Amino acid sequence: FGDGVGRPTWIEIQREALVENVRQIRRRIGPERLLMAVVKANGYGHDASLVAPIFLEAGADRLAVATLAEAVPLRQAGVTAPILILGYTPAWQAEAAVRLELTATVYDLETARALDQAAAALGRRIPVHVKVNTGMNRLGLLPEAVPPFLAALQMYRHLDVEGIFTHFATADAEDKTFAHEQLGRFQRLLAELEAAGLRPPLAHAANSAATLTLPQAHLDMVRCGIALYGLDPDVDECPLPPGFRPALSWKAQVAHVMALQPGDGVSYGHEFVASRPMVAAVIPVGYADGFPRAPLHWRNVLIHGAPAPILGRVCMDQTIVDVTDIVASAGPVRQGDEVVLIGRQGRQELSAEEVGRRLGTINYDVVSRILARVPRVLV
Ligand code: PLP
Repeated sequence: FGDGVGRPTWIEIQREALVENVRQIRRRIGPERLLMAVVKANGYGHDASLVAPIFLEAGADRLAVATLAEAVPLRQAGVTAPILILGYTPAWQAEAAVRLELTATVYDLETARALDQAAAALGRRIPVHVKVNTGMNRLGLLPEAVPPFLAALQMYRHLDVEGIFTHFATADAEDKTFAHEQLGRFQRLLAELEAAGLRPPLAHAANSAATLTLPQAHLDMVRCGIALYGLDPDVDECPLPPGFRPALSWKAQVAHVMALQPGDGVSYGHEFVASRPMVAAVIPVGYADGFPRAPLHWRNVLIHGAPAPILGRVCMDQTIVDVTDIVASAGPVRQGDEVVLIGRQGRQELSAEEVGRRLGTINYDVVSRILARVPRVLV
């Protein structure tokens, strides 16, 4: 933080890890197939504007976001690669989608018409990808509705029907039965469209889990998120193979160190009361950074390569941790010392997967909930 602004808590993103993760995916899909890097939710909390150019330089061909608004900072950062909006783009966003040269997902004629009219008004064309519901039961048309839908889209002269895609519900599970079923439905539809001369050029289905474990699903393009960040699609049933590396670490500096006497209560509500002489450290991170307060929290952070348990309630901007044992075994903890909330310190690692387990959630949720007020830096 050369400008002296920053904060004594920050996220480090390792460029080399991102590059290696792209290489790992590329090795598996071959040189020809397209790779779409999914950078929704601020790049799974990694800072989309920071990571998107690295993914593209490392060999990703395109990007995907969840919402139109997520594409704005990417275009402002000078990203010119195609960006697919995976989610719902309401008709009132059609003009912005055209102006930003985005690719929209369509699954109804009303949206298609709005996009076509907006493109016509601006004298442009807009690429669209048709979403098919093969069993996720989230967005999309049922397979049988797709041929008439594609036929109807032909009347919209300003749409470029570039892609067709579906999304797996269970590709990260060990049991691939339903993923195969979804893929079968999608492939039968593609064959039917091919025969009718209606197949869009880019068919895609695979998320990270399917890219890694279901090569038949690679089709014309894969859409990878979690694996590109070096995180497991599923900790138990779809861990990443060796070679992938987590790119994100969350660090902080100790703000204050104090002694506690038996009977001293700590933090709001005095939920923790010392029963022996202790040493406590304050870290400048709180629930308004996405460091959850209750009922479940991180349990501990790392200081001097050892776990420092959280004492009492996490506050909005600060948290108090126990460093008694660390001081006894490794010497004094001082203001400014490094704290690790996610990542490695010495021989200890606190992974996003482990934090997810503690919070009763998944690594995706852990990293994407870290709020924007924590600065992100590339290392
Ligand atoms: N495609 C769609 C439609 C998604 O919603 C997502 C994210 O959930 C992805 C691809 C990327 O998935 P993953 O991060 O598991 O690779």
